[in-house]
Amino acid sequence: MLPDETPTALSLLTARTANACAAAVVGSASAASAALAGAARPFTGARPEPLGRAVAEVDLDAPLGDLDLVIAEVERLWLRDAVWFHHPRYVAHLNCPVAVPAVAAEAMLATVNASLDTWDQSAGAMLIERRLVEWTAERAGLGPDADGIFTSGGTQSNLQALLLARDEMLAAHPELPRAEALTRLRVFTSEASHFSIERAAALLGLAPDAVVTVHTDDARRMCVGALVEEVSAQRAAGNLPCAVVATAGTTDFGSIGPLTEIADVALAHDLWLHVDAAYGCGLLASVTRRHLLTGIDRADSVTVDFHKSFFQPVSSSAVLVRDRTTLRHVTIHADYLNPVEHAERRGIGDQVDKSLQTTRRFDALKLWFTLRAMGADRVGELFDGAIDLAAALARHLRLDPRFTVAVDPVLSTVVFRWLPEERADREDVLRVDAANTAAREAVMALGEAVVASTKLDGETWLKFTILNPTVELRELVEVCDLLAAHAEDAFDDGRELVTSGVAGSSAGEEVA
Ligand SMILES: *Cc1c(COP(=O)(O)O)cnc(C)c1O
Repeated sequence: MLPDETPTALSLLTARTANACAAAVVGSASAASAALAGAARPFTGARPEPLGRAVAEVDLDAPLGDLDLVIAEVERLWLRDAVWFHHPRYVAHLNCPVAVPAVAAEAMLATVNASLDTWDQSAGAMLIERRLVEWTAERAGLGPDADGIFTSGGTQSNLQALLLARDEMLAAHPELPRAEALTRLRVFTSEASHFSIERAAALLGLAPDAVVTVHTDDARRMCVGALVEEVSAQRAAGNLPCAVVATAGTTDFGSIGPLTEIADVALAHDLWLHVDAAYGCGLLASVTRRHLLTGIDRADSVTVDFHKSFFQPVSSSAVLVRDRTTLRHVTIHADYLNPVEHAERRGIGDQVDKSLQTTRRFDALKLWFTLRAMGADRVGELFDGAIDLAAALARHLRLDPRFTVAVDPVLSTVVFRWLPEERADREDVLRVDAANTAAREAVMALGEAVVASTKLDGETWLKFTILNPTVELRELVEVCDLLAAHAEDAFDDGRELVTSGVAGSSAGEEVA
């Protein structure tokens, strides 16, 4: 037996240390809140090398023996140079400012440390998770037999959805040897879809060319005509069209595929319809824009990332299915965990029967806190606010001769490109590319802003992903002004390099 320790924060969480634990949570949460409140910039521009040295210098075999010292050390190693998603000038990726109730829930779920695999590790927690799955599936209109499970993220949700699609197809073709069927299955998705679809296909043992990319229209929505052609071509080639993945909110453009038309094609060609609403799911809470998801109710499976447009801390995602029996494809019964007789003896089945994970966090609690404290309408309003902001920024940039905008945003991303003033200069695509890259790197290196970029028809474009509705348009315009100034400098530097005969140099490499 361990000696009777004094109840401090440096021990296991037991009844004796529960108060010390609560105080410790307040301590670390306070340090994080103070750092967040004090962050003048979204990022300091810290470089990996010095930070890496500082982390490497820590002697992990020589503990500090004091939580406050640990917090101070982490402030130096991380918080001081953290990337702050709430900051008005963080507009890079699909990271949201988080709902306060959800953060409070994080502390609670870690304290209790429920694991949502079985009833005997979670009890009411799994009832709360199930209620939220039902609620979300109902909002999506998936019908009375719907079910689903919380996952770690959209990547995992997409993997599970495609696993179910694959196994439904294999089950429908018992006459085909499995190995042969696997090489012939085809999944159709648009060129604007998320890379996790491709990775899922690889993990599921499908052929390297199993994911058929369907081209998009000018608004970056899947072309349904092209989908039909691709499906027919694959069938003619002797392959087995299995699933179509529609994206409700593409990562780059926020474009929403023509869900109803895609559903018609899926129906006509007997394809599993998966709707990847990792980004667009927040529309389920919107009073004014829910109609943008019309057609999602016809999906066989849906991915929702609460940690994107429901303002939840990472991780919080779910995969939903229209027909709960399809989840049997991930069910394996183990005597030591979830024997078949559990459902009968306890009157409730185990959540692990529906999940790719075993031990699993109670992430659902965060959404529960949020919905119960703030309400779904408020969540929807917040997402609507971000969408309005993106529309306003796009309008503004369209009037600004320094920029060109890729598409009118449907959700909250704005993809745009800086252009030099002289028309002739604009023909120099490589130098314009380099100037846009340099501008993005410069604002990051100087800690002025964090901005993303992407490629559009081979060209480099800048991207704002706006998920903070409390930001003002003026603040976003300021970031655009900074970007334009850096891009101009880089473009001019590029001209000097060319005229001084330094061939092949990229202006982007010159950024400090
Ligand atoms: C972000 C995203 C994903 C991946 O989700 P993670 O939670 O990052 O794993 C999948 N699909 C789309 C459309 C996304 O935007």
